[in-house]
Amino acid sequence: ANPEFRYKRVLLKVSGEVLMGDQAYGIDMKTVATVAQAVAQVAREGVEICLVIGGGNIFRGLSKAAGDMERATADYMGMLATVMNALAMQAALEKIGVQTRVQSALTMNAVAEPYVRRRALRHLEKGRVVIFAAGVGAPFFTTDSGAALRAAEMGCDALLKGTSVDGVYTADPKKDKSATRYDTLTYHDVLAKDLKVMDASAIALMRDSDIPIVVFSIREDNSLRRTLTGEGVFTVIS
Ligand code: UDP
Repeated sequence: ANPEFRYKRVLLKVSGEVLMGDQAYGIDMKTVATVAQAVAQVAREGVEICLVIGGGNIFRGLSKAAGDMERATADYMGMLATVMNALAMQAALEKIGVQTRVQSALTMNAVAEPYVRRRALRHLEKGRVVIFAAGVGAPFFTTDSGAALRAAEMGCDALLKGTSVDGVYTADPKKDKSATRYDTLTYHDVLAKDLKVMDASAIALMRDSDIPIVVFSIREDNSLRRTLTGEGVFTVIS
């Protein structure tokens, strides 16, 4: 990889909400294409990329839409939503010439490979972008936990959390004008202060695996590349 980059292999987690763009729900293919361009740019420069896409733009186990359905059933529906997003992301990447594979934690042979760790590692070595769908494949988890688990399994150098905010703030910057952004935080700070970055289980797994979490805004032009070179605006949790 280009030596300018701080990390050789990363896992990029993009929440479903990012993919809906300015829509109220669903997939905005223009936004998906923008994320795909950002991924393609750094993949071409040799960074090995794993992707985990959330499903919140379509369905969340804990949402109103789930009504009084059993939590586990609603969660499985949420996992299926992540598969749809993964296929949309795959389509956008392949359209611009990036080789990809989708591996799903729920077997669905007609649409995705089953998750096989060693096979995923091989794809990365060959320069393919691997999109991990269906989270950890179990209810009562989220794609944040799925992202942390795969980052650890793939031996990633960092877990990048691409959101709509350029880092972790002292308060919600959209509501509180006096909120300030942290440049760095420890895993302990995030857990003790209950900062809304990722699930506690995801943070704890990254702490135990000693993998930094970098929170940045994927909405800014070039922000993924700038996060990888260290020039951009972000919060590093380590
Ligand atoms: N989900 C799950 N187990 C997993 C991953 C996801 O049960 O390992 C379900 C859960 O209902 C979750 C939904 O899928 O609410 C969508 O994922 P998530 O909320 O993490 O998406 P995001 O917030 O990143 O868009």
